[in-house]
Amino acid sequence: MPGHELSPSTIAVGAGRPNRVPGGPLNAPITLASALVPGGASEYGRAGNPTWDSFETVLGALEGGRALSFASGTAATSALFDLVPSKATVVAPRHAYYGTLTQLHERARRGQIELKLVDIDNTQLVINAAESAALVWIESPTNPSLEIADIAAISQAASRAGTAVAVDNTFATPLRQKPLELGADFVVHSASKLLSGHSDVILGAVVTNSDRAYAAIEKRRSVLGAIPGAMETWLAARGIRTLHVRLDRAEANAKELHKRLSASSRIVYSRYPGFGTIIAFEVAGGAQVAQKMTEQSDIITYATSLGGVESTWERRRRHPQEPESVPEGLIRFSVGIEDVEDLWIDIQNVLAAFA
Ligand SMILES: *Cc1c(COP(=O)(O)O)cnc(C)c1O
Repeated sequence: MPGHELSPSTIAVGAGRPNRVPGGPLNAPITLASALVPGGASEYGRAGNPTWDSFETVLGALEGGRALSFASGTAATSALFDLVPSKATVVAPRHAYYGTLTQLHERARRGQIELKLVDIDNTQLVINAAESAALVWIESPTNPSLEIADIAAISQAASRAGTAVAVDNTFATPLRQKPLELGADFVVHSASKLLSGHSDVILGAVVTNSDRAYAAIEKRRSVLGAIPGAMETWLAARGIRTLHVRLDRAEANAKELHKRLSASSRIVYSRYPGFGTIIAFEVAGGAQVAQKMTEQSDIITYATSLGGVESTWERRRRHPQEPESVPEGLIRFSVGIEDVEDLWIDIQNVLAAFA
């Protein structure tokens, strides 16, 4: 063991590998098994799988806690919401991933929780709402509006009030934001995005540094059965090996493209929180122009999802479930690792043709 704390890049490359034995593989094998020999960590494939362990170890090491993988980010979110006591209050951002808001609205409609929606960048408002809540759900940056929450201040106040704080860290990744270090109790990921990074996996995770919470979440996973596949966790662990390199490159591209978009007369505004790979912008001409433009680009793919090596964009309100508070013309642009000049030419071409 090295005598100093390892940097996140080194952890991303090295954590979660099998012990080095002569003739053994450097990567965790894909274990396809419903039944395992009794006496180990798990004897049934719904309770545990060695390939999950590899992904959970590297993600846990990066976030500074213990990770549990789930069938999707949505399944991870659902398991966490299941821990909220009956009729208790949940505070959540007005703008958040729409699947998360759908879950919260459904639970509120059934009378299972009280839902309080807030502007997550209004720290005092969130702190006041947290006073009487069981859980504050934070997304930061939010999807797709890119608001930023003060995780440290909210966590400190929530902790005094005995309120749990969970942070959806999908957009920032543990390389840009470590919510557990900032005082949050839970981190949730859609590993379908940047962690996997190649648009070929649906996977989620919850991370916590409380042993009690870990046991409760693990139990929810087994009871609900929303478990990951061995293949998915293997792909995600492989994706994480290059996370820092992909993120550095895509982020540099995003910074440059945000600068150029902001300076363009065809753009109403471009929003970028200063880190990460997502830009939100609106073009002159509104929703119709935004729709046409995103469909007609050549290098940038018209597609939902985000966080892959390839650049994608879409007009978010084309999804009927997206909250109406998101502007009709808002384009969510997930910047990839292509050459930035090629991306800019693609953007200029569609802007010239439609905006
Ligand atoms: C995609 C996404 C989710 C949902 O994750 P899935 O893996 O698609 O279920 C949750 N939160 C954010 C911020 C996302 O972008």
